[in-house]
Amino acid sequence: MDALILLTNDDGIHAEGLFALNAALASLGRVVVVAPDRPRSASGHSITLHKPLRIAKVKMPGGGEWYSTTGTPSDCVLLAVHEILRRRPDLVVSGINDGPNLGWDLTYSGTVAAAMEGAIIGAQAMAISLVNTGNHPEWDYGLASEFALRVASLLLREPLPPHVFLNINVPMPPDKRLRGVMLTHQGIRRYPGRIEKRVDPAGRVYYWLGGDVPEDRLEPGSDVEAVSKGYVSITPIHLDLTNYALLEQLKSSPGFAKLLENC
Ligand code: MN
Repeated sequence: MDALILLTNDDGIHAEGLFALNAALASLGRVVVVAPDRPRSASGHSITLHKPLRIAKVKMPGGGEWYSTTGTPSDCVLLAVHEILRRRPDLVVSGINDGPNLGWDLTYSGTVAAAMEGAIIGAQAMAISLVNTGNHPEWDYGLASEFALRVASLLLREPLPPHVFLNINVPMPPDKRLRGVMLTHQGIRRYPGRIEKRVDPAGRVYYWLGGDVPEDRLEPGSDVEAVSKGYVSITPIHLDLTNYALLEQLKSSPGFAKLLENC
């Protein structure tokens, strides 16, 4: 039986990266796109509980099965499984994101959250992002979509254990030549959190978040380091955020022992 593949993203249904992904994966089976009707970057793992969601079947140049929804990337996966496909897809691919999802980006990312939702429903899942490390004026999704095809066919042939997924970042180095592929751990990248304070025409104050350059720590073996050196980064991710080393440390901490005793 042909594989059933669900595509989504957080850049919205008109994003170039989604078109590239759809074209690249068509040979693997039945590909269905269910994506937000507008950009939803940095929406994290949010789902919509307090307002109605709508689905629209969309005709796209080049054909294929396309649906837009008024929801978040995670809503899209849930609507796809329960309403559009009416069964669990074999593979969920989210992307190709317009920009990095490295280090602590993962906690904000709608792209990564959609792959998380894929892992939660028990499908094979991957998030894939393009990082314009060479500051090229044009974004070239070619290499990333070729790579997505290779990983997608691998996941269908050799599935990962349940409830994990892959977070993939493909760089676009200055010479557009990839140096190779590295299996990595999630690294450290933080945004200094610049907030711009402005005044609207009515004299009321408002704020713009973001626009700041992230601070990367180039730890060896991390996703951040791999991409900065021109390598494709593949990080296996699970949904367990527990710090196991700290858990053990807290168990033998006198302060915490007291806290536990006195309850
Ligand atoms: Mn995005």
